[in-house]
Amino acid sequence: MSECLFCRIVAKEVPADIVLEAGRALAFRDINPQAPTHVLVVPKAHHESAAALAAADDGLADDLLKACHAVAVQEGVAETGYRIVFNTGEGAGQTVFHVHAHVLGGRDLTWPPG
Ligand code: 5GP
Ligand code: ZN
Repeated sequence: MSECLFCRIVAKEVPADIVLEAGRALAFRDINPQAPTHVLVVPKAHHESAAALAAADDGLADDLLKACHAVAVQEGVAETGYRIVFNTGEGAGQTVFHVHAHVLGGRDLTWPPG
């Protein structure tokens, strides 16, 4: 059994509120939402971070971005605006080391982020 929380969610060993399954990507609601829409989009394959995903060079990053937009459309935030965040590394607030995009929307999002 994997020790990676998001691998375990992908394997359906840990329950999650799944909103979209799109080929090599899976999207599920964040357990601690920071906006009315707060969905995490992960590749089903384990890559530690956005940096590792970028290095994978097999089109997976492309799939992930498309899945993020599909989630935004499905959640009804594509028109009003949404934010895609990859916290990359501990210093940037990454706490789960299976790459995930946060898709946030449904409220005014300020800039700069905290
Ligand atoms: P990070 O801090 O790594 O960018 O984001 C990790 C995110 O995973 C956090 O927003 C946190 O709320 C979320 N999270 C942590 N544990 C779980 C869980 O068991 N289920 C779900 N759905 N989200 C989780
Ligand atoms: Zn993993």
